[in-house]
Amino acid sequence: MITIKNNNEIAKMRESNRIVGLLLHKLDDIVKPGISTYDIDKFADELIRNEAGKPAFKGYYIPGLPPFPAAVCSSVNSCIVHGIPSKKKILQEGDIIGIDVGVYKNGYYGDAAKTFQVGKISEQAAVLMAVTREALKRGISQARDGARVGDISHAIGSYVMSQGYFVADNLTGHGIGTSLHEDPIVPNFGVKGKGPRLRKGMTIAIEPMVNIGTNRVIENGWEFYVADGSLSAHFEHTILITENEAELLTEY
Ligand code: MG
Repeated sequence: MITIKNNNEIAKMRESNRIVGLLLHKLDDIVKPGISTYDIDKFADELIRNEAGKPAFKGYYIPGLPPFPAAVCSSVNSCIVHGIPSKKKILQEGDIIGIDVGVYKNGYYGDAAKTFQVGKISEQAAVLMAVTREALKRGISQARDGARVGDISHAIGSYVMSQGYFVADNLTGHGIGTSLHEDPIVPNFGVKGKGPRLRKGMTIAIEPMVNIGTNRVIENGWEFYVADGSLSAHFEHTILITENEAELLTEY
């Protein structure tokens, strides 16, 4: 079931997502060569708690895996999503790192992700990041009252393919509210005019995950990697559907 939020619920969504956006903004100054993904996670955990939120990913449970151990997912280079922060993972000049964060506050969830460059990066990595960011923008531009989920999916997938890149298999965006993951599923490719209809008051997370070499993924516990070892980027916003342009709830 897709939930429609009333004004009171929307206010709570704005607050949880504001904290997500604030963190991803502040991380611009934190992500640099020499820092470990563990230290990035520590920074995130503290900031979220200082804003009276709870890190939503910590303890997140899916059958068959240990609970997710950290506040953020930190996915370096060919890691697509769900990378686990570690003291041993030290960022190197030229890396790209996707950081995905969820915040729970007042009963509602916020969720967004951003890929950061570590120092100076290759032209190839820079173009991948730009294409992924643009794919997200194009997806968001389709999201409004009366449109279909397929309009978003088609805008993302067709653009990514036109640039010669691949959307990662089996990884999608999602509705969000009193649960981190709600209906509808928001795929990163699809058919215009198909899928559930969007209505004012829905909140969804749109999140293209774009690979250079192949759509195929390899799972290693929580972590998803590009099957051919090529680079992957990830950008995500939670948005509120309105009669006009969607409202970005996770401005960063
Ligand atoms: Mg998400």
